[in-house]
Amino acid sequence: MPMAPGEPIEADALVIGAGPVGLWQVFECGLLGLHCAVVDVLPAPGGQCHTLYADKPLYDIPGLPASTGQDLVDRLCRQIQPFAPSWHLGQQVVALQRRDDGRFALTTSEGTQLLGRCVFIAAGVGAFLPRRLPVEGLEPFEGRQVFHHEAPPTSAAGLHLVVAGGEDEALQRVADLCDAAEPPASLTLLHRRDRFDGADPALAARLAALRAAGCVQVLAGQPGGLEVHDGRLTALQVDTPEGGPVRLPLDQLQVCLGLSPRLGPVADWGLAMARRQLAVDTARFETSEPGIHAVGDVVQYPGKRRLIVCGFHEATLAAFAAAERLRASPVLLEYTTSSKHLQQRLGVLPGVTNPS
Ligand SMILES: Cc1cc2nc3c(=O)[nH]c(=O)nc-3n(C[C@H](O)[C@H](O)[C@H](O)COP(=O)(O)OP(=O)(O)OC[C@H]3O[C@@H](n4cnc5c(N)ncnc54)[C@H](O)[C@@H]3O)c2cc1C
Repeated sequence: MPMAPGEPIEADALVIGAGPVGLWQVFECGLLGLHCAVVDVLPAPGGQCHTLYADKPLYDIPGLPASTGQDLVDRLCRQIQPFAPSWHLGQQVVALQRRDDGRFALTTSEGTQLLGRCVFIAAGVGAFLPRRLPVEGLEPFEGRQVFHHEAPPTSAAGLHLVVAGGEDEALQRVADLCDAAEPPASLTLLHRRDRFDGADPALAARLAALRAAGCVQVLAGQPGGLEVHDGRLTALQVDTPEGGPVRLPLDQLQVCLGLSPRLGPVADWGLAMARRQLAVDTARFETSEPGIHAVGDVVQYPGKRRLIVCGFHEATLAAFAAAERLRASPVLLEYTTSSKHLQQRLGVLPGVTNPS
Protein backbone atom coordinates (compact mmCIF):
# COMPACT_ATOMS: atom_id res chain seq x y z
CA MET A 1 0.00 0.00 0.00
CA PRO A 2 1.49 3.41 -0.92
CA MET A 3 2.36 5.83 1.89
CA ALA A 4 0.13 8.90 2.03
CA PRO A 5 1.86 12.29 2.08
CA GLY A 6 2.74 13.84 5.46
CA GLU A 7 5.50 13.64 8.02
CA PRO A 8 5.64 10.28 9.80
CA ILE A 9 5.69 10.20 13.59
CA GLU A 10 8.81 8.47 14.87
CA ALA A 11 9.17 6.16 17.85
CA ASP A 12 11.56 3.40 18.87
CA ALA A 13 8.77 0.84 18.99
CA LEU A 14 5.33 0.65 17.38
CA VAL A 15 2.73 -1.22 19.44
CA ILE A 16 -0.34 -2.42 17.54
CA GLY A 17 -3.16 -2.89 20.03
CA ALA A 18 -3.81 -1.21 23.39
CA GLY A 19 -5.26 -4.24 25.16
CA PRO A 20 -3.74 -5.27 28.51
CA VAL A 21 -0.79 -6.94 26.79
CA GLY A 22 -0.08 -3.99 24.48
CA LEU A 23 -0.13 -1.71 27.54
CA TRP A 24 2.30 -3.96 29.40
CA GLN A 25 4.50 -3.98 26.30
CA VAL A 26 4.80 -0.20 26.63
CA PHE A 27 5.91 -0.65 30.25
CA GLU A 28 8.57 -3.26 29.51
CA CYS A 29 9.85 -1.26 26.53
CA GLY A 30 9.92 1.88 28.67
CA LEU A 31 12.07 0.18 31.33
CA LEU A 32 14.55 -0.71 28.58
CA GLY A 33 14.61 2.84 27.24
CA LEU A 34 12.41 2.26 24.19
CA HIS A 35 9.79 4.92 23.54
CA CYS A 36 6.53 3.55 22.11
CA ALA A 37 3.75 4.73 19.85
CA VAL A 38 0.50 2.83 20.47
CA VAL A 39 -2.29 2.38 17.93
CA ASP A 40 -5.75 0.94 18.53
CA VAL A 41 -8.91 1.03 16.49
CA LEU A 42 -10.93 1.57 19.68
CA PRO A 43 -11.28 5.10 21.05
CA ALA A 44 -10.04 3.97 24.48
CA PRO A 45 -7.31 1.60 25.68
CA GLY A 46 -8.08 -1.77 27.27
CA GLY A 47 -8.95 -4.24 24.48
CA GLN A 48 -11.18 -7.08 25.65
CA CYS A 49 -11.00 -5.95 29.31
CA HIS A 50 -12.50 -2.59 28.37
CA THR A 51 -14.88 -3.78 25.65
CA LEU A 52 -16.16 -7.14 26.84
CA TYR A 53 -15.95 -7.18 30.65
CA ALA A 54 -15.25 -3.70 31.98
CA ASP A 55 -17.48 -4.21 35.06
CA LYS A 56 -16.89 -7.93 35.59
CA PRO A 57 -14.40 -9.21 38.16
CA LEU A 58 -11.21 -11.09 37.39
CA TYR A 59 -9.23 -12.87 40.06
CA ASP A 60 -6.07 -14.19 38.38
CA ILE A 61 -3.86 -11.13 38.04
CA PRO A 62 -0.84 -11.61 40.34
CA GLY A 63 -0.92 -9.25 43.29
CA LEU A 64 -4.48 -8.12 42.55
CA PRO A 65 -6.80 -10.53 44.38
CA ALA A 66 -9.79 -9.01 42.58
CA SER A 67 -10.32 -6.26 40.06
CA THR A 68 -12.70 -5.43 37.25
CA GLY A 69 -11.58 -5.36 33.63
CA GLN A 70 -11.66 -1.56 33.62
CA ASP A 71 -9.86 -1.28 36.95
CA LEU A 72 -7.00 -3.37 35.54
CA VAL A 73 -6.83 -1.16 32.44
CA ASP A 74 -6.82 2.01 34.55
CA ARG A 75 -3.99 0.63 36.68
CA LEU A 76 -1.95 -0.36 33.62
CA CYS A 77 -2.46 3.09 32.10
CA ARG A 78 -1.22 4.69 35.35
CA GLN A 79 1.76 2.35 35.40
CA ILE A 80 2.90 3.30 31.88
CA GLN A 81 2.45 7.04 32.40
CA PRO A 82 6.17 7.64 33.14
CA PHE A 83 7.00 6.37 29.66
CA ALA A 84 4.62 8.82 27.92
CA PRO A 85 3.77 6.75 24.85
CA SER A 86 2.25 8.57 21.90
CA TRP A 87 -1.38 7.45 21.54
CA HIS A 88 -3.13 6.93 18.22
CA LEU A 89 -6.58 5.70 19.19
CA GLY A 90 -9.65 5.26 17.00
CA GLN A 91 -7.43 4.18 14.10
CA GLN A 92 -6.97 0.78 12.56
CA VAL A 93 -3.52 -0.24 11.40
CA VAL A 94 -4.02 -1.07 7.74
CA ALA A 95 -0.45 -1.44 6.43
CA LEU A 96 2.95 -2.39 7.78
CA GLN A 97 6.08 -2.38 5.65
CA ARG A 98 9.81 -2.66 6.20
CA ARG A 99 11.72 0.22 4.63
CA ASP A 100 15.11 0.08 2.97
CA ASP A 101 16.73 1.63 6.07
CA GLY A 102 15.46 -1.34 8.16
CA ARG A 103 12.79 0.67 9.98
CA PHE A 104 9.09 -0.17 9.84
CA ALA A 105 6.44 2.10 8.36
CA LEU A 106 2.93 1.73 9.65
CA THR A 107 -0.17 3.36 8.15
CA THR A 108 -3.53 3.74 9.85
CA SER A 109 -7.06 4.04 8.51
CA GLU A 110 -6.91 7.77 9.31
CA GLY A 111 -3.76 8.19 7.22
CA THR A 112 -1.44 8.57 10.24
CA GLN A 113 2.04 7.31 9.46
CA LEU A 114 4.39 6.01 12.08
CA LEU A 115 8.02 4.98 11.79
CA GLY A 116 9.60 2.60 14.26
CA ARG A 117 12.76 0.57 14.74
CA CYS A 118 10.76 -2.44 15.92
CA VAL A 119 7.13 -3.53 16.06
CA PHE A 120 5.04 -5.36 18.64
CA ILE A 121 1.77 -6.80 17.38
CA ALA A 122 -0.57 -7.08 20.38
CA ALA A 123 -3.72 -7.30 18.28
CA GLY A 124 -5.50 -9.86 20.47
CA VAL A 125 -8.45 -11.48 18.79
CA GLY A 126 -8.47 -8.68 16.23
CA ALA A 127 -9.64 -5.13 15.78
CA PHE A 128 -12.96 -4.48 17.48
CA LEU A 129 -15.19 -3.14 14.73
CA PRO A 130 -18.93 -2.43 14.81
CA ARG A 131 -21.18 -5.26 13.63
CA ARG A 132 -23.02 -4.14 10.54
CA LEU A 133 -26.58 -4.90 9.43
CA PRO A 134 -26.43 -7.61 6.78
CA VAL A 135 -28.11 -5.48 4.10
CA GLU A 136 -26.42 -4.80 0.80
CA GLY A 137 -26.08 -1.16 -0.23
CA LEU A 138 -26.01 0.48 3.24
CA GLU A 139 -22.33 1.36 3.21
CA PRO A 140 -22.53 4.56 1.10
CA PHE A 141 -24.92 6.03 3.69
CA GLU A 142 -22.58 5.47 6.64
CA GLY A 143 -21.71 8.72 8.39
CA ARG A 144 -24.64 10.51 6.66
CA GLN A 145 -27.78 8.55 7.53
CA VAL A 146 -26.40 5.32 8.97
CA PHE A 147 -24.45 5.46 12.24
CA HIS A 148 -22.86 2.77 14.36
CA HIS A 149 -21.24 3.60 17.70
CA GLU A 150 -20.50 7.17 16.86
CA ALA A 151 -23.15 9.70 17.84
CA PRO A 152 -24.82 11.31 14.81
CA PRO A 153 -23.51 14.86 14.33
CA THR A 154 -26.96 16.50 14.41
CA SER A 155 -29.95 16.21 16.73
CA ALA A 156 -32.62 13.64 15.94
CA ALA A 157 -35.39 16.21 16.39
CA GLY A 158 -38.12 15.79 13.80
CA LEU A 159 -36.49 12.74 12.17
CA HIS A 160 -37.95 9.29 11.56
CA LEU A 161 -35.44 7.18 13.39
CA VAL A 162 -34.73 3.46 13.47
CA VAL A 163 -32.48 1.87 16.08
CA ALA A 164 -31.35 -1.67 15.20
CA GLY A 165 -30.39 -4.08 17.99
CA GLY A 166 -31.77 -5.95 20.96
CA GLU A 167 -29.16 -5.68 23.68
CA ASP A 168 -28.33 -3.10 26.33
CA GLU A 169 -26.67 -0.66 23.94
CA ALA A 170 -29.75 -0.52 21.69
CA LEU A 171 -32.20 -0.24 24.58
CA GLN A 172 -30.12 2.48 26.22
CA ARG A 173 -29.99 4.39 22.92
CA VAL A 174 -33.79 4.22 22.65
CA ALA A 175 -34.18 5.48 26.23
CA ASP A 176 -31.74 8.35 25.58
CA LEU A 177 -33.57 9.35 22.40
CA CYS A 178 -36.92 9.34 24.22
CA ASP A 179 -35.41 11.47 27.02
CA ALA A 180 -33.94 14.02 24.58
CA ALA A 181 -35.22 17.58 24.86
CA GLU A 182 -36.31 17.41 21.21
CA PRO A 183 -37.29 13.81 20.51
CA PRO A 184 -37.51 12.31 17.02
CA ALA A 185 -40.75 12.44 14.98
CA SER A 186 -40.93 8.65 15.22
CA LEU A 187 -38.76 6.00 16.79
CA THR A 188 -38.69 2.31 15.92
CA LEU A 189 -36.60 -0.36 17.57
CA LEU A 190 -35.82 -3.06 15.01
CA HIS A 191 -34.83 -6.43 16.44
CA ARG A 192 -35.01 -9.92 15.03
CA ARG A 193 -37.70 -10.84 17.55
CA ASP A 194 -39.94 -9.09 20.02
CA ARG A 195 -38.01 -10.34 23.06
CA PHE A 196 -35.12 -8.80 24.93
CA ASP A 197 -34.01 -11.67 27.14
CA GLY A 198 -30.29 -10.81 26.97
CA ALA A 199 -30.80 -7.19 28.06
CA ASP A 200 -30.43 -5.70 31.51
CA PRO A 201 -33.85 -6.18 33.22
CA ALA A 202 -34.04 -2.49 34.21
CA LEU A 203 -33.51 -1.41 30.59
CA ALA A 204 -36.04 -4.00 29.35
CA ALA A 205 -38.59 -2.63 31.87
CA ARG A 206 -37.85 0.93 30.73
CA LEU A 207 -38.41 -0.11 27.10
CA ALA A 208 -41.75 -1.67 28.03
CA ALA A 209 -42.80 1.59 29.72
CA LEU A 210 -41.70 3.68 26.72
CA ARG A 211 -43.65 1.39 24.39
CA ALA A 212 -46.75 1.67 26.54
CA ALA A 213 -46.39 5.46 26.48
CA GLY A 214 -46.18 5.42 22.67
CA CYS A 215 -42.61 6.85 22.56
CA VAL A 216 -41.24 3.90 20.60
CA GLN A 217 -42.60 1.04 18.53
CA VAL A 218 -40.86 -2.31 18.25
CA LEU A 219 -40.68 -4.07 14.91
CA ALA A 220 -39.59 -7.71 14.94
CA GLY A 221 -37.90 -8.86 11.74
CA GLN A 222 -34.79 -8.96 9.58
CA PRO A 223 -34.00 -6.18 7.14
CA GLY A 224 -33.88 -7.62 3.64
CA GLY A 225 -33.47 -4.58 1.40
CA LEU A 226 -33.56 -0.83 1.21
CA GLU A 227 -35.22 1.97 -0.71
CA VAL A 228 -33.27 4.91 -2.04
CA HIS A 229 -34.67 8.07 -3.65
CA ASP A 230 -32.54 10.89 -5.04
CA GLY A 231 -29.45 9.53 -3.32
CA ARG A 232 -31.17 9.36 0.07
CA LEU A 233 -32.00 6.26 2.05
CA THR A 234 -35.76 6.45 2.58
CA ALA A 235 -36.86 3.05 3.92
CA LEU A 236 -35.84 -0.46 4.94
CA GLN A 237 -37.73 -3.50 3.80
CA VAL A 238 -38.13 -5.80 6.77
CA ASP A 239 -39.01 -9.48 6.57
CA THR A 240 -41.23 -10.13 9.56
CA PRO A 241 -41.92 -13.47 11.28
CA GLU A 242 -45.54 -13.11 10.16
CA GLY A 243 -44.44 -13.35 6.54
CA GLY A 244 -44.64 -10.45 4.09
CA PRO A 245 -42.08 -7.65 4.03
CA VAL A 246 -42.93 -4.45 5.89
CA ARG A 247 -41.81 -1.04 4.62
CA LEU A 248 -40.09 0.89 7.41
CA PRO A 249 -39.62 4.55 6.41
CA LEU A 250 -36.63 6.32 7.95
CA ASP A 251 -34.40 9.37 7.86
CA GLN A 252 -31.72 7.89 10.06
CA LEU A 253 -30.59 4.41 11.09
CA GLN A 254 -28.59 3.87 14.28
CA VAL A 255 -27.05 0.39 14.35
CA CYS A 256 -26.34 -0.88 17.88
CA LEU A 257 -25.31 -4.48 17.29
CA GLY A 258 -22.14 -4.40 19.36
CA LEU A 259 -18.55 -4.93 18.33
CA SER A 260 -16.94 -7.97 16.82
CA PRO A 261 -13.21 -8.60 16.52
CA ARG A 262 -11.62 -9.10 13.11
CA LEU A 263 -7.98 -9.99 12.66
CA GLY A 264 -8.20 -8.25 9.29
CA PRO A 265 -5.01 -6.73 7.94
CA VAL A 266 -2.71 -8.37 10.52
CA ALA A 267 -3.26 -11.66 8.71
CA ASP A 268 -2.26 -10.09 5.36
CA TRP A 269 1.27 -8.94 6.19
CA GLY A 270 2.91 -12.14 5.02
CA LEU A 271 3.88 -13.27 8.53
CA ALA A 272 3.93 -17.00 9.25
CA MET A 273 0.68 -18.18 10.82
CA ALA A 274 -0.16 -21.16 13.03
CA ARG A 275 -3.81 -22.08 13.49
CA ARG A 276 -4.86 -18.65 12.22
CA GLN A 277 -2.68 -16.89 14.81
CA LEU A 278 0.80 -15.43 14.41
CA ALA A 279 3.53 -18.02 14.86
CA VAL A 280 6.30 -16.91 17.26
CA ASP A 281 9.27 -18.45 19.00
CA THR A 282 9.06 -18.63 22.77
CA ALA A 283 12.40 -17.00 23.58
CA ARG A 284 12.02 -13.74 21.65
CA PHE A 285 8.33 -13.72 20.73
CA GLU A 286 9.40 -12.73 17.27
CA THR A 287 7.35 -13.45 14.16
CA SER A 288 8.82 -14.80 10.93
CA GLU A 289 9.93 -11.20 10.17
CA PRO A 290 12.95 -10.12 12.27
CA GLY A 291 12.10 -7.03 14.26
CA ILE A 292 8.36 -7.71 14.31
CA HIS A 293 7.37 -9.28 17.61
CA ALA A 294 3.91 -10.54 18.55
CA VAL A 295 2.42 -11.04 22.01
CA GLY A 296 -0.87 -11.81 23.74
CA ASP A 297 -3.93 -13.46 22.29
CA VAL A 298 -2.78 -12.96 18.70
CA VAL A 299 0.05 -15.50 18.97
CA GLN A 300 0.22 -19.25 18.81
CA TYR A 301 2.99 -21.53 20.08
CA PRO A 302 3.02 -24.93 21.77
CA GLY A 303 1.35 -24.56 25.16
CA LYS A 304 -0.08 -21.08 24.49
CA ARG A 305 -2.90 -20.05 26.88
CA ARG A 306 -5.00 -17.00 26.21
CA LEU A 307 -4.50 -15.47 29.65
CA ILE A 308 -3.41 -11.96 30.50
CA VAL A 309 -0.60 -13.19 32.72
CA CYS A 310 0.84 -15.23 29.81
CA GLY A 311 0.70 -12.11 27.62
CA PHE A 312 2.61 -10.14 30.28
CA HIS A 313 5.41 -12.73 30.22
CA GLU A 314 5.50 -12.69 26.41
CA ALA A 315 5.73 -8.89 26.33
CA THR A 316 8.60 -8.93 28.84
CA LEU A 317 10.72 -11.32 26.80
CA ALA A 318 9.81 -9.60 23.53
CA ALA A 319 11.00 -6.23 24.91
CA PHE A 320 14.37 -7.70 25.94
CA ALA A 321 14.77 -9.36 22.54
CA ALA A 322 13.97 -6.14 20.69
CA ALA A 323 16.33 -4.07 22.84
CA GLU A 324 19.17 -6.56 22.32
CA ARG A 325 18.62 -6.57 18.58
CA LEU A 326 18.57 -2.78 18.38
CA ARG A 327 21.70 -2.43 20.53
CA ALA A 328 23.39 -5.48 19.00
CA SER A 329 24.53 -6.44 22.51
CA PRO A 330 23.10 -8.30 25.50
CA VAL A 331 20.86 -6.29 27.84
CA LEU A 332 21.71 -6.71 31.50
CA LEU A 333 18.92 -7.71 33.85
CA GLU A 334 18.20 -4.96 36.38
CA TYR A 335 15.63 -4.90 39.18
CA THR A 336 13.26 -2.01 39.74
CA THR A 337 13.80 -2.48 43.49
CA SER A 338 17.52 -1.69 43.29
CA SER A 339 18.40 -0.14 39.91
CA LYS A 340 18.77 3.64 40.07
CA HIS A 341 18.76 3.63 36.31
CA LEU A 342 15.33 2.00 36.12
CA GLN A 343 14.01 4.16 38.96
CA GLN A 344 15.06 7.25 37.02
CA ARG A 345 13.22 5.98 33.97
CA LEU A 346 10.19 5.34 36.17
CA GLY A 347 10.43 8.91 37.42
CA VAL A 348 10.72 7.85 41.08
CA LEU A 349 14.31 9.16 41.29
CA PRO A 350 15.40 12.51 39.87
CA GLY A 351 17.47 12.59 36.68
CA VAL A 352 14.95 11.02 34.35
CA THR A 353 16.56 9.45 31.32
CA ASN A 354 13.40 8.58 29.42
CA PRO A 355 13.44 8.92 25.70
CA SER A 356 11.07 11.67 24.58
C1 LIG B 1 -15.45 -12.42 28.94
C2 LIG B 1 -13.97 -12.61 29.07
C3 LIG B 1 -13.41 -12.80 30.32
C4 LIG B 1 -12.05 -13.00 30.46
N1 LIG B 1 -11.54 -13.20 31.71
C5 LIG B 1 -10.20 -13.36 31.88
C6 LIG B 1 -9.64 -13.58 33.16
O1 LIG B 1 -10.37 -13.68 34.17
N2 LIG B 1 -8.30 -13.72 33.25
C7 LIG B 1 -7.46 -13.67 32.16
O2 LIG B 1 -6.25 -13.77 32.31
N3 LIG B 1 -7.99 -13.48 30.92
C8 LIG B 1 -9.32 -13.33 30.75
N4 LIG B 1 -9.84 -13.16 29.49
C9 LIG B 1 -8.92 -13.17 28.34
C10 LIG B 1 -8.18 -11.82 28.24
O3 LIG B 1 -9.13 -10.77 28.17
C11 LIG B 1 -7.29 -11.82 27.03
O4 LIG B 1 -6.33 -12.83 27.18
C12 LIG B 1 -6.58 -10.46 26.91
O5 LIG B 1 -7.49 -9.42 26.70
C13 LIG B 1 -5.60 -10.49 25.75
O6 LIG B 1 -5.01 -9.24 25.69
P1 LIG B 1 -4.38 -8.67 24.34
O7 LIG B 1 -3.83 -7.32 24.70
O8 LIG B 1 -3.50 -9.69 23.74
O9 LIG B 1 -5.60 -8.53 23.33
P2 LIG B 1 -6.97 -7.72 23.37
O10 LIG B 1 -7.44 -7.50 24.75
O11 LIG B 1 -7.87 -8.43 22.43
O12 LIG B 1 -6.57 -6.31 22.75
C14 LIG B 1 -6.17 -6.22 21.39
C15 LIG B 1 -6.39 -4.81 20.90
O13 LIG B 1 -5.83 -4.70 19.59
C16 LIG B 1 -6.67 -3.87 18.80
N5 LIG B 1 -6.41 -4.17 17.38
C17 LIG B 1 -6.41 -5.37 16.76
N6 LIG B 1 -6.07 -5.25 15.46
C18 LIG B 1 -5.85 -3.93 15.27
C19 LIG B 1 -5.47 -3.16 14.13
N7 LIG B 1 -5.25 -3.71 12.92
N8 LIG B 1 -5.37 -1.82 14.27
C20 LIG B 1 -5.59 -1.22 15.48
N9 LIG B 1 -5.96 -1.91 16.58
C21 LIG B 1 -6.06 -3.23 16.48
C22 LIG B 1 -8.08 -4.26 19.25
O14 LIG B 1 -9.00 -3.22 18.94
C23 LIG B 1 -7.87 -4.46 20.76
O15 LIG B 1 -8.14 -3.28 21.50
C24 LIG B 1 -11.21 -12.98 29.33
C25 LIG B 1 -11.76 -12.77 28.06
C26 LIG B 1 -13.13 -12.61 27.93
C27 LIG B 1 -13.71 -12.39 26.56
